[in-house]
Amino acid sequence: MDVVSIKKEILGAIIQHASEDVPLECCGLLMGQGNLISDLRKMKNALQSPIRYSMEPPALLHFFKELRSLQLIHLGIYHSHPSSEAYPSSIDKEQAYYPDCTYFIASLRNPLSPSVRAFSILNETVQEKEIRIID
Ligand SMILES: [Zn+2]
Repeated sequence: MDVVSIKKEILGAIIQHASEDVPLECCGLLMGQGNLISDLRKMKNALQSPIRYSMEPPALLHFFKELRSLQLIHLGIYHSHPSSEAYPSSIDKEQAYYPDCTYFIASLRNPLSPSVRAFSILNETVQEKEIRIID
């Protein structure tokens, strides 16, 4: 299994964001250097939906400009599943436009014990990644 490394506080922030936005799906973007995700940007779910998410093009543009000025790499995308498991839906697979990114999904199906899993999605093929948490 491929490995993705993420700072502990960033993983915590993903779960926090997911909890705040229940019953809607939340979404956001992850950046860092090398193979280590060190920062996140919360994004607005333009669809305001409990089962889908979408980011607004101007917000994406802003993110990519910021990325360049910080000299960081776009390493991942996260979103939440408020009431289903932490696994890509068929829509998630269809709309996985970033083959080099790691897709993080936070499930709040069990609100007392949120779970996060990470995947690469290439041509609608899902491969789970091991999440390595860095202090
Ligand atoms: Zn999803």
